Amino acid sequence: MSGFTLPPPPLLPGQAPVGRAALFLDFDGTLVEIAPRPDAVRVPLDLPALLLRLRDQLAGALAVVSGRPLPDLDLFLPVPLAMAGDHGASVRPVPAGPVEAPPLAVPPEAWRLQAMALAQAHPGVLLEEKTHGFALHYRLAPEAGPAAEALLAGLVAGSPFQLLPARMAWEIRPRGPSKGSAVRRLMQDGAFAGRVPVFIGDDVTDEEGMDAARALGGLGWQLQDAFGTPVALRGWLAQAVAGS
Ligand SMILES: [Mg+2]
Repeated sequence: MSGFTLPPPPLLPGQAPVGRAALFLDFDGTLVEIAPRPDAVRVPLDLPALLLRLRDQLAGALAVVSGRPLPDLDLFLPVPLAMAGDHGASVRPVPAGPVEAPPLAVPPEAWRLQAMALAQAHPGVLLEEKTHGFALHYRLAPEAGPAAEALLAGLVAGSPFQLLPARMAWEIRPRGPSKGSAVRRLMQDGAFAGRVPVFIGDDVTDEEGMDAARALGGLGWQLQDAFGTPVALRGWLAQAVAGS
């Protein structure tokens, strides 16, 4: 187990293998393909078992780091894993252990109502509720993207919230926690401490996780640059586990 190394990603063949890695994986668009609706995401049948084997090979230093709430992630990946949800606002360092979720502001109800009204005015726009905010998805109504951005940007101006761009979505969340803060928190914990953090993600918010990993002497890999697709990433993970 101590000899487990991450091989070079398929699109970065010059990358040296990484020993003693701590692996941080985004979920949507990284481990699984983006779905037309967030609730329609399809998890390959063998993915939970693959993540368990990977977790064991990494001596526990594996975490899924997502913008989704932890209960959603537990539904999609019903195996004990370290996780961070809500863009780092909820962190569970030990699989099945306690969740750390410092109190954070929630957006005013009036904001949700305005977002709901925009979704109703633009068929195909979906409002996704999050623990500390919400997202407007416009994948099914791309022409509504600018209107969603304008509405949410106006709401958060001068507030303790920020507007985040996501893939075909705009999201409101409290300032402060991030995927970067989640990486820094998890790297202090038993299974992770002293290892080389490697963060893999596909989206704007993942860059904070990648930056945190690099600042701790590790690596950040953009899915598109290092693997191309989620299926290629899953193949690489399976290969890493099988080759150990
Ligand atoms: Mg993603």
